[in-house]
Amino acid sequence: MKRVGVLALQGAFKEHIEKIISLGHEAIEIRNVKQLDSLDGIILPGGESTAIGKLLKDSKIKEVLANKINNGLPVWGTCAGMILLAKELDGNEDGHLKVMDIKVRRNAYGAQLDSFVTTEVIEGIADKEIPMVFIRAPYIVEAGEKVDILHRVDGNIVAARQKNILATSFHPELTDNYIFHEYFINMIK
Ligand code: GLN
Repeated sequence: MKRVGVLALQGAFKEHIEKIISLGHEAIEIRNVKQLDSLDGIILPGGESTAIGKLLKDSKIKEVLANKINNGLPVWGTCAGMILLAKELDGNEDGHLKVMDIKVRRNAYGAQLDSFVTTEVIEGIADKEIPMVFIRAPYIVEAGEKVDILHRVDGNIVAARQKNILATSFHPELTDNYIFHEYFINMIK
């Protein structure tokens, strides 16, 4: 049984908690820096990255969490979580945790395509199709050489991994599919 933290400062953390518990693991809502101790992995949920970023700073979680990730703590960022992980953001905005060698464009699909769902096979993850829910989603516009690109939709990078760091533009926690949560649990040794 793994002990998985889910950052619970803002956003869609409850759905991740439910998925982790359904898979038979322990899930902990993370709201303060002390709770980062003795985690086997952590999920950064979707939500509003500007709000979560500010709360990360104010709660002093930011620096400690970035250090833990740099030291190998498995982490998975979904949507806003991906934005938090990025070393660089497209435009004038500064990054947050800055632990993954990616440049991310926020709200990359624009107002016209606010949210959409697509179902595709993600090679190397599973042979079955996986539903992908995009909500005001970001995507990766540049990835460093240490980054494995896991999937593109319409040519844009929407899932990637750099060793202990997983990032997805979409929200597996908002579907009834468990494949990505299982994949993340397997990233935890
Ligand atoms: N648009 C949000 C942001 O830029 C992310 C949306 C989401 O997490 N569903 O922070």
